[in-house]
Amino acid sequence: MDPTAVIGKTRAVSTPSSPRYTPPKDLSAYAWLSIGAAVTTIALKAFAAWLTGSVGLLSDAAESVVNLVAAVVALIVLKIAIRPADDDHQFGHSKAEYFSAITEGVMIFVAAAFIIISAVERLITPVMPEQLSVGLIISVGASAVNGAVSWVLRRAGRREGSAALLADAKHLATDVVTSAAVLVGVGLVALVGSPVLDAVVALGAGLNIMWTGFKLIRESVGGLMDAAPGGQAQARIEEVLDEHRRAGRIDFHAVRLREAGNRRFAHLHVLVPGEWSVKRGHDFTERVIDDLVAVDPNLRVSAHLEPIEDPKSYEDVEDV
Ligand SMILES: [Zn+2]
Ligand SMILES: [Zn+2]
Repeated sequence: MDPTAVIGKTRAVSTPSSPRYTPPKDLSAYAWLSIGAAVTTIALKAFAAWLTGSVGLLSDAAESVVNLVAAVVALIVLKIAIRPADDDHQFGHSKAEYFSAITEGVMIFVAAAFIIISAVERLITPVMPEQLSVGLIISVGASAVNGAVSWVLRRAGRREGSAALLADAKHLATDVVTSAAVLVGVGLVALVGSPVLDAVVALGAGLNIMWTGFKLIRESVGGLMDAAPGGQAQARIEEVLDEHRRAGRIDFHAVRLREAGNRRFAHLHVLVPGEWSVKRGHDFTERVIDDLVAVDPNLRVSAHLEPIEDPKSYEDVEDV
């Protein structure tokens, strides 16, 4: 049976937002699937490491801890970050993602340090792993679980347009690749009979895990600092605004963009002729917002209307 058939039964979270914005769906069941897969693979890989005494396989188990961490971040994003604004958090809850991701990044660092220390110890006093073939079979089985869950998450992420699910799927897929590298290395240990190689494999995996943690922290700090979104996000907004600009009559300024979770938030000033009625100005602004959201459905727009000929309208360009 197609596993997505059951988990795919998502329900819409009711939000008081305008009909222009589609209410977010509760996709947290996928995060729970991911957490279950991570716990299963950690158990299998840790058992394989214990059985063989291989630090290479132990590093692979530590890498699965990173999966667990990524799945928990995904759950927080899908469950908390998506909540609509309330009295206590009037801009919504999207930054929960970064707060948790920084904590998790630090945890990943600790896991990596643990692996690197174990690997260095084994480099100094090498120990030959035992029963490597059994350990390898168990680890391959664990990687197969990761691969299958990654496939389910990617399908759901594409269908629902969820960046959190796609990121988690990508993470699991990367893990399958690094696990394969570790397994090839440990397989060579068995073939060559070199205990030093086992420690070298673990050291490489440990450094790779540390790099993952560093990237996670760097991205989260960028999000907390309201770093401007990369890629085409800004260019797409400017394109839409240019279509509405009319020399001397209609203009936009103080266009600012920030990103939180999988949503982007734009703030801008809309400059129109001062003789326009409030209704005309508002109708025009609503059209501009509709066009912006049509280009980027995950964009939330807040606009400030001002008369184009009034010098006061230009005093606030630098105000944040
Ligand atoms: Zn309005
Ligand atoms: Zn202004």
